[in-house]
Amino acid sequence: PKITVGLLFGGRSAEHEVSRASAANVLRALDPTKYNVVLIGLAKDGRWLLCDAGNQAGTVATALTIPEDGAPLALVPGGKGRSLRFAEGEQKGAVHVDVMFPVLHGPNGEDGTIQGALELADVAYVGSSVLGSAAAMDKDVAKRLARDAGLPVVPFATLTSQAPLDYATVVRAVGSTDVFVKPANLGSSVGISRARSAEEFAQSCALAFRFDSKILAERCIDRAREIECSVLEDEKGCVRASSLGEIVPADSHGFYSYKAKYTDAAGARLIIPADIPPERTERLQALAIKTFQVLGCGGLARVDFFLKGEEVVVNEVNTLPGFTSISMYPKLWEASGVSQSELMDILIAHALARHARQQ
Ligand code: ADP
Ligand code: MG
Ligand code: MG
Repeated sequence: PKITVGLLFGGRSAEHEVSRASAANVLRALDPTKYNVVLIGLAKDGRWLLCDAGNQAGTVATALTIPEDGAPLALVPGGKGRSLRFAEGEQKGAVHVDVMFPVLHGPNGEDGTIQGALELADVAYVGSSVLGSAAAMDKDVAKRLARDAGLPVVPFATLTSQAPLDYATVVRAVGSTDVFVKPANLGSSVGISRARSAEEFAQSCALAFRFDSKILAERCIDRAREIECSVLEDEKGCVRASSLGEIVPADSHGFYSYKAKYTDAAGARLIIPADIPPERTERLQALAIKTFQVLGCGGLARVDFFLKGEEVVVNEVNTLPGFTSISMYPKLWEASGVSQSELMDILIAHALARHARQQ
């Protein structure tokens, strides 16, 4: 019998649009002979809407849409067996799902919140569970866990709105006057800027604090190479790492900013595989797997590094990385001999096996 996959997409974060594009690609990659797909769009106002109408397989171009008049769904915990029940607003009945695939990025999708709701509802889902999602999303927590495990991370200082730090203190803490300031819990480079003076630092902090009450100031690794590795866990718990990819942001953007990522088609080049000698590639792949395990991730993650000369640091881990047709995560697996549709099979098998072990 076919497996029914609930595709969750959209969401309330700044990455809503990216998620709709990722979900269109995931839908395309799910083999219709193996899976029925239920499309569940999370509207920006927080409603969960049934989106099957207007998004039929084969007709979707680049992004799934969330129709305003889609039937509103509510997650009802405690469904029988492995099926998830949705109460359909005024409409009677339920939608059964064997496994959920959250194709959501950023806060409220990638940070453990949706994962917690799915745990309560006792349904299998793709990707990291609550702790791994939350730990990887919070750049402060993630860096502390990685550092504690002896993994290389960039020197950083943590600032909160209650306990801000002045520029001189940060410069002493990170060992550089050139710093990157970023919100602790966000993605897509939103709220991130570089500061090289006390004045710029004050502006950078004000910007980052608009998005989070906790922010990081990190030593800037000037002209570092940005190397990414896709990590995948199968149903037996075996974790493997893909070939490496390199991101080369266009000079005009200064760094891999939101614009370089999404609004400028020529904003960045992806080089697959990255030009890195085999021995070093293997070291980075091992480091990606170690980082995945240290943070308690599951299923999938993309581990991002900065590389400068002999120095390597783990920059961040994205537990629900971009999944569009041109995104690094699926492309790295294709380069490593795993097609997108095989990738879906592995992720869904992992989700179902993990859920079965919890019963
Ligand atoms: P996000 O989760 O938003 O992608 P990142 O920590 O990956 O946040 O930062 C986004 C981009 O900012 C990076 O891809 C890189 O181009 C630049 N950047 C971030 N931190 C540093 C740093 N410490 N040194 C140099 N560049 C950085
Ligand atoms: Mg990120
Ligand atoms: Mg990043």
